[in-house]
Amino acid sequence: MGFVVAVQDISHSDFELKEVQSIIDEKPLLNKEMLALSDWLARYVFSYRIQVIQAMLPNAFKAKYLKGLKIVGQLSDDIKKQFFLDKDEINFLPEQYDSRQLQLLNQLISQGKVVQTTTIAKKNRAKTVKVLSNALSEQQLTDLLNEKGHREAQKKILAFLQQHTDDHFQTKELAEILDISPASLTTAEKKGWLTAKQMPVTRNPVHAISVAKSQAIALNPDQEKVFQQVAQAIDNQKQETFLLEGITGSGKTEVYLQLIERTIAQGRNAILLVPEIALTPQMIRRVKARFSDAVALIHSGLSDGQRLDQWEEIRQGQIKIVIGTRSAIFAPLDNIGLIIIDEEHESNYKQEDNPRYHARDVALWRARFHGAVTLLGSATPSLESRARAQRGLFTLLRMDHRAVSGAMLPTVSIVDMREVWQKEHADSDFSPDLLDAVKQRIAAQEQTILLLNRRGYSSFVMCRNCGYVPHCPNCNLSLTLHMDSHALKCHYCGYETAIPTKCPVCGSSQIRYVGSGTEKIEAKLQALIPNVRIARLDQDTTRKKGSLEKILRDFGQQKYDVLLGTQMVAKGLDFPEVTLVGVLNADTGLNLPDYRSGEKTFDLLTQVAGRSGRSGKKGDVIIQTFNPDNYAIQYAAKQDYEGFYRKEMSLRHLADYSPYFYTLQIAVDGPDQFMASQAIDAVADFIKGRLAQQTIMLGPTPKAIAKLRNRYYFQIILKYKKDDNLEGTLRDLQSVFSERLPHDIYLSIDRDPVSF
Ligand code: ADP
Ligand code: ZN
Ligand code: ZN
Repeated sequence: MGFVVAVQDISHSDFELKEVQSIIDEKPLLNKEMLALSDWLARYVFSYRIQVIQAMLPNAFKAKYLKGLKIVGQLSDDIKKQFFLDKDEINFLPEQYDSRQLQLLNQLISQGKVVQTTTIAKKNRAKTVKVLSNALSEQQLTDLLNEKGHREAQKKILAFLQQHTDDHFQTKELAEILDISPASLTTAEKKGWLTAKQMPVTRNPVHAISVAKSQAIALNPDQEKVFQQVAQAIDNQKQETFLLEGITGSGKTEVYLQLIERTIAQGRNAILLVPEIALTPQMIRRVKARFSDAVALIHSGLSDGQRLDQWEEIRQGQIKIVIGTRSAIFAPLDNIGLIIIDEEHESNYKQEDNPRYHARDVALWRARFHGAVTLLGSATPSLESRARAQRGLFTLLRMDHRAVSGAMLPTVSIVDMREVWQKEHADSDFSPDLLDAVKQRIAAQEQTILLLNRRGYSSFVMCRNCGYVPHCPNCNLSLTLHMDSHALKCHYCGYETAIPTKCPVCGSSQIRYVGSGTEKIEAKLQALIPNVRIARLDQDTTRKKGSLEKILRDFGQQKYDVLLGTQMVAKGLDFPEVTLVGVLNADTGLNLPDYRSGEKTFDLLTQVAGRSGRSGKKGDVIIQTFNPDNYAIQYAAKQDYEGFYRKEMSLRHLADYSPYFYTLQIAVDGPDQFMASQAIDAVADFIKGRLAQQTIMLGPTPKAIAKLRNRYYFQIILKYKKDDNLEGTLRDLQSVFSERLPHDIYLSIDRDPVSF
């Protein structure tokens, strides 16, 4: 299967040309915009166009067409045998057949004996399911609600029906939402409160979500000012990019919703991106409550069938608002007036595999195409975006107060874990301050969020006595522990040193390996506070479909005292009863071998701190750290983004990093370490002489993950300025090396890599 992107007369070609055997889609899958986008993006991210197109389309398209042939006419046994057919459907995998067979197949198609079947959707269409919906009039409902003596479950049902007069639910689903037994629903059905009917199984993930309708909130003056400025650009169909720097809880989402409303009123459509799947349930609820049905959801947690259906609905023009994660930026939505990227600083917006695109770049391209407004929102904008606003490329908007009246930013205290370890026993994960605070919240029936900032592969060594972590003398980045070679290595420049037996700062010999996961911490906390009810939120506990929603819903209904998790707990969550946030180890992120580690730490701490005290009850945040003086932790404790921005910019300036220089990574990987290392040397030789004078080249060195799935990885980092004309050199590199490299060695180029 391939894609026809253009038709040209060619009399001669250097490539082997093939004929188009048959055409699958009568109507093109990709419109003009998408074709142009794929062309631009492929070049921009140094990828193949086919990879970009595949990233744009739902997965199901592969399955759909590979299975899509059906016999309708009479076929001889001979032919059936040839295609291994005992049923009347062919599992059509072109590579199973030789060209003669394919020719025969095409003949059968043209004779009408075989047809192409379309979507998988058709196969499932027959299925139906029983759903329940309200059977009572408004008056009956009011009367029933006024009657005394209903059982608890019955009260819940009536209250729910009042909110959801027109919706329908499956029994199991509704029982779960209301936290009652399915039997109570059967009783209600017998009483005539509910009617049951059969409905086709819907593969629409938005439809299944139930919400009470909500009204627009009157904006406060901060919000109003932002709203007016962006709304004006929307009205004028002016292509403009806004950066909204709004503290946590300042009411950014409410502004988004009202701007979307304005866009729709103008007859145009909107895309709203969130950085991860965990944030989609909450966002889709808030959007659906306002806009009911013209909403589509796209993220990688959906089944192939759901994604396909959503994609088709969007393409057919039934959708006005698309919500989703990174890949939703490719939604085939037309007539776009507004693109919002919430938490725009999040690194999840960058795809780490081919094609290595950033959703923000795609958004800006599409906004230009449609004459649309782009709104980037964050409490902690990326340095790149904030610097662009500084230079006037983006319009900077700010909201500095919490939206709920009386709600203040929480009080943040830093606990120096070095002292705790000296006074208490070393190795304790919980300081007495934090433990006491958690106990107080349990007693007051308030809630706590605990963050264990432990991410990624990297581990490091640290002096237990003074908190010292060894850094590279050339790059000032923390060194990574390599157990196999028993050494500390710098992943940027290749510097290498032995693991110290004594701390060079304080002389202590208590050097230790750092790392402790959420599961272990959960067990420890349970032992320390036996009556605490803990919900754990991490990749392990959310693997099952629907489990994320359930954990968050149960926490929202105060079935738990503590929500303990990885960075998943840090972002976007809005729970009014949370008045304490504890960060168990703020240092983990600081010691990643990454020039952005300060920024990432600041972002994460500021975001998680923002979960506390959102409803008007006073909130506290306790940050445990071995580096209480670190600037990122200090600024996060003050929740001072602008201060952090200035400090971090000066550090980036000194070290020639982004946003002063662009960065780009060239990587080579292969199954043989020596060959791969020779290949990266050859790459270095090739580009060295072609770089602009101010372009800086680091490496070659092994990548941070030097060996993965039996392949060895090497890299070169380039730091360059916009006018360095690097693109031409890199394209030459790609075309020369695609021939020169052995077939099992890959060359890849990553523009603006998230980490090296
Ligand atoms: P952010 O996205 O900036 O973190 P949210 O949009 O989640 O903030 O708003 C935080 C809380 O403030 C929410 O509970 C929201 O309903 C409430 N809120 C937003 N705007 C207003 C307003 N104008 N008046 C009262 N409450 C508001
Ligand atoms: Zn020390
Ligand atoms: Zn180094």
